[in-house]
Amino acid sequence: MFQIQSKLDRFGVDAILFNSSEVLVSTNLRYLTGFTGSDASVIVTPTESILITDGRYKTQAKEETSGMRIRIVRNRVEAVARTLRSRRSSRLGLEASRVSHELVAQLTKKIPGLKIVPLSRDFLENLRIRKTPEEIEKIKKAAVIASNACRETLRSRLEGKRESDIAADLELLFRRGGAEGIAFPTIIASGPRGALPHGMASDKVIKSGELVVVDFGCRFEGYSSDETVTCVVGRSSEEQKRIHKAVYDAHMKVLDATKEGIGVRELDKIARQSIDQDGYGKYFLHGLGHGVGLETHEAPYLSPRGRGVLQEGMVFTVEPGIYIEDYGGVRLESLVYLSGSGPEVLSEMPKNLISVN
Ligand code: ZN
Ligand code: ZN
Repeated sequence: MFQIQSKLDRFGVDAILFNSSEVLVSTNLRYLTGFTGSDASVIVTPTESILITDGRYKTQAKEETSGMRIRIVRNRVEAVARTLRSRRSSRLGLEASRVSHELVAQLTKKIPGLKIVPLSRDFLENLRIRKTPEEIEKIKKAAVIASNACRETLRSRLEGKRESDIAADLELLFRRGGAEGIAFPTIIASGPRGALPHGMASDKVIKSGELVVVDFGCRFEGYSSDETVTCVVGRSSEEQKRIHKAVYDAHMKVLDATKEGIGVRELDKIARQSIDQDGYGKYFLHGLGHGVGLETHEAPYLSPRGRGVLQEGMVFTVEPGIYIEDYGGVRLESLVYLSGSGPEVLSEMPKNLISVN
């Protein structure tokens, strides 16, 4: 919290408001305070931080936070307004993408002269970009639980089952392995559905000879994992092997080039050029990867428009893919931690073309 307090001046604000509601969660609120409840406001001034929540969270707020004032109230917006008024905070910084128009309207109505200052996106995005050793442990745990669940699921027969049945098997194993649940809706995209980069498991039945993209992640103590494998049911065709190899080679070239100081755009370019040289350039439809932490998608963004360089402590995915309409797709995704001694792959599934029954 101290790191934020010392920056208020730089943003030209008297206070910052972090706000979480059931529908609009501020991950930074959780990150900065440790509070995991769904409804809370945190006001940070140069000298104090105040957590405002309701009676449901009285015990939890005390247990999860330290060094903050905790206020339990019935009307949160009223309490926030009163607190800001009493401290004469007239310039209020907030997370533009995490605050509803409704809340802003209520606050400006209740606090005459209040000026709202949206905090810089870079500042907010970079707050959690380098992980602590404790965070790395949690992400690693999530990655191992998820990889084990995937390995186990792919041992059973896929042919003749619905994609949604495979997803259900996998998700049950996440829970059994100690995860809190899924990090995002599981993607099982078989046959032509594999051409949809976000083909969530459907009731389509998996057939022999099809490619199956399995993109999965679980959550452990709030932290996500994210990994993708591609399987073939039975024997693979020459074309399927060629497409897989193009993605595999791009994936490996990126892992070889991963080091501190390399630009995120440069890494994306390595993958894009490799796939292009293999003749599939126009089928690589998304960025190379993204950071992973309390959110499944967070900074850094490894894409043609990404900014910045890799730094020690970052955790991110490397996930090139090829998606051919009416045919299918291949994506291979590894979860990578950049440690002081180089990249460490936290996800554990092999990235070869996995043959399943
Ligand atoms: Zn993924
Ligand atoms: Zn991903």
